[in-house]
Amino acid sequence: MNQGKIFADAGKMAVNSAAAEDACRVKILFPLPLFKAFDYLAPAKWRLAPGQFVRAPFGPREIYGVVWTGEPDIKTPQEKLKALSENCDAPPLNNDIVDFVDWAASYTLAPLGSVLRMVMRSGDWLTPPSKQTWFVRGNARPPRMTPQRKSVLDAADARPKSAAALAEIAGVSDGVVRGLQKAGALNAVEIDPDPPFEPPDLSVAGPKLSDDQNFAADQICNQVRNEGEGCVLIDGVTGSGKTAVYLEAVAAALNKDPTAQVVILLPEIALTVPFLERVEERFRAAPAPWHSELTMAERRRTWRRVADGGARLVVGARSALFLPFQNLKLIIVDEEHDNAYKQEDGVIYHARDLAVARGARGKFPVILASATPSLESVVNVDEGRYSAVGLQSRFSGAAMPEISLIDMREYPPEKGKWLSPALSDRVDEKLSVSEQSMLFLNRRGYAPLTLCRRCGHKMTAPGSDTMLVEHRFENKLVCHHTGFSMDKPDRCPACNGRNTLNPCGPGVERIAEEAVERWPDARISVLSSDTAPGPRAMREILDAMQNNEIDILIATQLAAKGHHFPNLTLVGVVDADLGLAGGDLRAAERTYQLLSQVTGRAGRSEKPGAALLQTYQPEAAVLQALAANDRDNFLAIEAEGRRALGFPPYGRLAAIILRGRDENAVHQAARDLASAAPNGDGVDILGPARAPIYRLRGVVRMRFLIKARRNVSLQAFLNDWLSRVRTPSSVRRTIDINPFSFM
Ligand code: ADP
Repeated sequence: MNQGKIFADAGKMAVNSAAAEDACRVKILFPLPLFKAFDYLAPAKWRLAPGQFVRAPFGPREIYGVVWTGEPDIKTPQEKLKALSENCDAPPLNNDIVDFVDWAASYTLAPLGSVLRMVMRSGDWLTPPSKQTWFVRGNARPPRMTPQRKSVLDAADARPKSAAALAEIAGVSDGVVRGLQKAGALNAVEIDPDPPFEPPDLSVAGPKLSDDQNFAADQICNQVRNEGEGCVLIDGVTGSGKTAVYLEAVAAALNKDPTAQVVILLPEIALTVPFLERVEERFRAAPAPWHSELTMAERRRTWRRVADGGARLVVGARSALFLPFQNLKLIIVDEEHDNAYKQEDGVIYHARDLAVARGARGKFPVILASATPSLESVVNVDEGRYSAVGLQSRFSGAAMPEISLIDMREYPPEKGKWLSPALSDRVDEKLSVSEQSMLFLNRRGYAPLTLCRRCGHKMTAPGSDTMLVEHRFENKLVCHHTGFSMDKPDRCPACNGRNTLNPCGPGVERIAEEAVERWPDARISVLSSDTAPGPRAMREILDAMQNNEIDILIATQLAAKGHHFPNLTLVGVVDADLGLAGGDLRAAERTYQLLSQVTGRAGRSEKPGAALLQTYQPEAAVLQALAANDRDNFLAIEAEGRRALGFPPYGRLAAIILRGRDENAVHQAARDLASAAPNGDGVDILGPARAPIYRLRGVVRMRFLIKARRNVSLQAFLNDWLSRVRTPSSVRRTIDINPFSFM
């Protein structure tokens, strides 16, 4: 929104207030799943403007909300309006954010208040937390220096802390701390528990860049310094040093304006910790972090300091895009192709797409980086909407790994095994020269399917159409969709056959079993979300791999991204066909991205790397392109396919999902919706159809897929359609604009 609109709205408030002497009408939006803002009365002297945080009675409660744009309804008699109860001191949301929330809600068709909720987070954060008392070293020496007192003073010297924290570190009671305070050896100071973040040190020079990097960095920094808005894609092979390039742009943006703020979005929190260290090294100050592993107090600090400008550089997950920045001037979306940017529940959105829109509306640049950019971004570059810079070679000078296909029909594994001799012989070679191998299979557990060999019964999760996956280390059957788990039964629940339940197909645990049998002396580890349930456990395995303490790593996609293993020279992909099966519109693209990332782990240092892909369909275009290292040709074929079908990025897609426990009600709602569908020129409606995973935890789901030409406003069409039907409260309706999941 532009300033003009804000002032026009403020003007309207003033007119209203003149009519009502000392009270004016304002619109208040609450962070609740509501589609609109509500009218309230406020004292005129508060001089409220959009973005201001206030407190208001809402139903039986009082809650925090935000003064919103739009015209209050002057026809409502004043006595029907409730009065606001508090005008908060917290820094107001700026115009860009108010505008972005409006826009994001109309784009995603999510309730406006739900989008505001992503910005506002907790109402508790609007009031500063109470000050804490910390202890620093005083001038006096304690009259008696006991070992306990000494350890408290040492702890305070290392870093001032609360009495309880000092006592805990020193292993003494609080009384020792108080005694030292009385003696003047410790002084109490009041501190803000949410101190501002150390600003990045912009006098530090970045690393010396290669010629390629320099060229790319110049181009991007010029854009940041001069032109402002626009989207740039850094398209650089894995290991080319994209980070060093965009950190120069970060420095340029922060330098240009002393209050500018920058956010770097990353797809995975496991990558965040080493990344934070890297950024800290570059700017000699830790950036403000934002991700799900933070404690509530850490989140509050980042949120409050972003809001008051006390955090200039933020590194975070997709939701960092919704932090209440005062003066956001640059967004970086690293690994822009990553599907983790798509949020699938609550407000369904794609953080990359919203980041681009945020930059365009705020008139500042957005930088996307990837070794395997999404087709969407590549087409945007081709059609001139984005600019691009390329980094063709690895910074270390290392060659890209040589990728070959193993035709499993020609070189099958032994019966009951999963590794072809063509792959295991290469692992033998690597072991003999003390180099590392990685066997990649994007499947957790031991076996994806448990089948009764007598009656054919498949083990599924209760009330769900999902298969139970055997986890042999724990002797459990687990549903990866619902989290349900049970002990593996001895008997088939359908035919009561004893020991007839058979594991079918491999997961990483089964590959590990084969590897241990074949290479009993090798140091073998498994990396999956089961063996590394949190970022810390994951870091341990990754560090062990980096430090050469593992010979063979068997891993899911957790090992695919970002990591640098200098002694890893062989990557074996156990099932290169996996991602292509049951393919949705992006199956081939995703397979290409994932396998490029995984194979890109090999040979990142001096020793050359190789990758072997086991496949039963070596003729598939995506595998041929990987083997030939011909991404552009793959993208061209992929683009042609999508253009012919009118799929994104050449057309628009949306999904409507209806779900509920009452199957009849869901089906009736789907029929009602289908019969109310307007005739839209250039719009095709597919469905309703049962979702591929139709029943999940007793809830059934029906889906519509809506396909439209690019020049059609899908949102307007959907609004028109959905306004014609009332869906009963027992059926939940969600809309997914540009769906990535079709399950
Ligand atoms: P990418 O993100 O493109 O895969 P990285 O940014 O992770 O690549 O860089 C790959 C490796 O090269 C990292 O270990 C990084 O520290 C190093 N590197 C990249 N650029 C430079 C530079 N200009 N000076 C020193 N080291 C660099």
